[in-house]
Amino acid sequence: MKDTWPLLDRIPFPAIARGRLQTLQVNVGYRCNQSCVHCHVNAGPNRTEEMDGDTADVVIDFLERRRIATLDITGGAPELNAHFRRLVTAARDMGARVMDRHNLTVQEQPGQEDLAEFLAGNQVEIVASMPCYLEDNVDRQRGKGVYDGSIRGLQRLNALGYGYEGSGLTLNLVYNPLGPSLPPPQFELEADYRRVLGERFGIVFNNLFTLANMPIQRFGAILLAKGEFDGYLDKLTHAHRDENLDGVMCRNLLSVDYQGYVYDCDFNQMLDLPLARGGRERLHLSQLRDDALEGNPIRVAGHCFGCTAGQGSSCGGALKEAAE
Ligand code: SF4
Ligand code: SF4
Repeated sequence: MKDTWPLLDRIPFPAIARGRLQTLQVNVGYRCNQSCVHCHVNAGPNRTEEMDGDTADVVIDFLERRRIATLDITGGAPELNAHFRRLVTAARDMGARVMDRHNLTVQEQPGQEDLAEFLAGNQVEIVASMPCYLEDNVDRQRGKGVYDGSIRGLQRLNALGYGYEGSGLTLNLVYNPLGPSLPPPQFELEADYRRVLGERFGIVFNNLFTLANMPIQRFGAILLAKGEFDGYLDKLTHAHRDENLDGVMCRNLLSVDYQGYVYDCDFNQMLDLPLARGGRERLHLSQLRDDALEGNPIRVAGHCFGCTAGQGSSCGGALKEAAE
């Protein structure tokens, strides 16, 4: 698979620095029951990288010592990691908000029969990928049968109260375009999702986030193979808005890989750009127990335009509309 980093590295991006740490985003491994075309993690069923128990302990210790407000767990399909549930319950016992980057179909994997009940019982906020409300588009991007499995997953979550106002169980959906285009306006698309999923399947959800695809990993390689890399980067850079720089997730989030090493964000993790601090090659979370990191420069390059293009799409979705 061709790597886009040598090209991205040559593209300048405005300098930005870290703010107050609020969220620890932990990638517990690259194993996933799906192999989506756009996956920026390059995850799939054959990936074996997994967070072990000692590293999970380091994460729990860090959350407690630094009183981190939010634990955001990602993968792969994070629920397939043997320490996923322990991380969730430890963080909830500390009073932290917990988010799960959830692919919906994992609920039907062996051993996950009680997953939805576990998530609801711990009031875990679900951020579920659902790249379209139409079957063809979802199956083309995420694999045959994924649409039907995702609908069943959403209905199971709704039956537990997820997505209903006042239930205390948050279900947010994530949209990303199929190809090298920017996502449409978040509010308009959210209304379409509500209408179609509601009318056809009785599904409810809280918010829809729209994200641009990052020109890295599997999606980056496809762009290169099709000769679309330069055109997509042009689209991202021309749509850049300086006002989006304040809202990018790397300001307040620290990304941790399955071995415990730290990065400014999940995308930098996938590009193997470790957090730059004190001239060290890479830092482990265990070395940052007492380091606030505020003001530390963020490692930026061409891929960062994926976060600041148009309405902006850091991991919480459109930045502009979110601020309004
Ligand atoms: S479900 Fe998510 S982690 Fe798994 S392959 Fe698809 S995009 Fe990647
Ligand atoms: S990719 Fe986005 S979140 Fe990551 S460092 Fe660049 S601007 Fe920040």
